[in-house]
Amino acid sequence: MLIEPIQGEAGVIIPDDGYLAGVRELTRRKGCLFIADEIQSGLGRTGDTLAVEHESVVPDMVLLGKALGGGIVPVSAVVARREVLAVLRPGEHGSTFGGNPLAAAVGTAVVELLETGEFQQRAAELGATLRDGLTELVGKGVVGFRSRGLWAGVDIDPALGTGREVSERLMREGVLVKDTHGSTIRLAPPLTITGEELVGALATLERVLG
Ligand SMILES: *Cc1c(COP(=O)(O)O)cnc(C)c1O
Repeated sequence: MLIEPIQGEAGVIIPDDGYLAGVRELTRRKGCLFIADEIQSGLGRTGDTLAVEHESVVPDMVLLGKALGGGIVPVSAVVARREVLAVLRPGEHGSTFGGNPLAAAVGTAVVELLETGEFQQRAAELGATLRDGLTELVGKGVVGFRSRGLWAGVDIDPALGTGREVSERLMREGVLVKDTHGSTIRLAPPLTITGEELVGALATLERVLG
């Protein structure tokens, strides 16, 4: 079973509490692998190293990418315990550029940066600022939102424009967000963002919706 613990592209859709634990229990019982695609949700963004940790769940396999390259190089990874990965033997699976030394060095450095927990803590603390700021905007152009850590899907009143239009208005004001479907935008600031910058971005969103 391959799922995103929180669906990114769909608009930061967060499952009900107990869902991930339920998937773990079901897959264990049925003897099938639970693969968590943490390419967007992983590496500190939600306040935990992996989003599955929110329910203390350990999947059989985790997919990582995007932030793994530290914004510098494209790199992704498939992570699993030996018993699972060892079904592939040397020579059975190849990739021309997979595992290139520069990308591997950057990925290793990113993993080391996460060892202290500092970035996870930043995401959790600033995530509260993000949530409070968005809560203030509900009814003022924001219909609703979902957030965990430094990650939010924000449903804009469709009368104010599509997600794409709102994203472009924000871009002109210096705030980069990504539209998803309909009038939903996705906020995923770098984990290095300062509290001041985050508050500034929320003020810009308020202005753009006003
Ligand atoms: C970007 C993305 C992918 C694709 O990752 P690649 O490294 O381009 O293969 C897969 N799943 C999710 C959730 C993504 O956001």
